[in-house]
Amino acid sequence: MKKLYLLFTLVILACNTSAQQETKSDQDFEISKTEEEWKAELSELEFYVLRKAGTEEAFTSSLNNIKEAGTFVCAACSNPLYKTKHKFDSGTGWPSFDRAIEGSLAYSADRKLGYKRDEALCGKCGGHLGHIFNDGPRETTGERHCINGAALDFIPDEK
Ligand SMILES: [Zn+2]
Repeated sequence: MKKLYLLFTLVILACNTSAQQETKSDQDFEISKTEEEWKAELSELEFYVLRKAGTEEAFTSSLNNIKEAGTFVCAACSNPLYKTKHKFDSGTGWPSFDRAIEGSLAYSADRKLGYKRDEALCGKCGGHLGHIFNDGPRETTGERHCINGAALDFIPDEK
């Protein structure tokens, strides 16, 4: 029932945003809220990571150890982003994946550390997720999506 409600909310939001499309810039996303609205909805850490492009401390996310089949969704808007089958142990202390669910991400270039890193954003709400590097598993995609656990919620597959 909660899922159904969420679906309705998303549909309503989607309709609202498409109606306002003329006034939106390219930077805007399907789901767009004010800083105050996000602050009210997200935990302090989620807000810091997703809306302020912060980074959680390594080895602190409870999602690091998840191995059961399921989907990692955006903690802000529930957009499905990653699958457990594409998760691997990178040893970095952050949940790591060799690919995202197709079409789920948006990308940006982050030069905060003085060099360019590919930033991974939620394709729906624009929330900051983490970064994408090209030192991932050679035998699959070679990509390493280094993602903050705080930006994700885990939904196990139904058995
Ligand atoms: Zn999102």
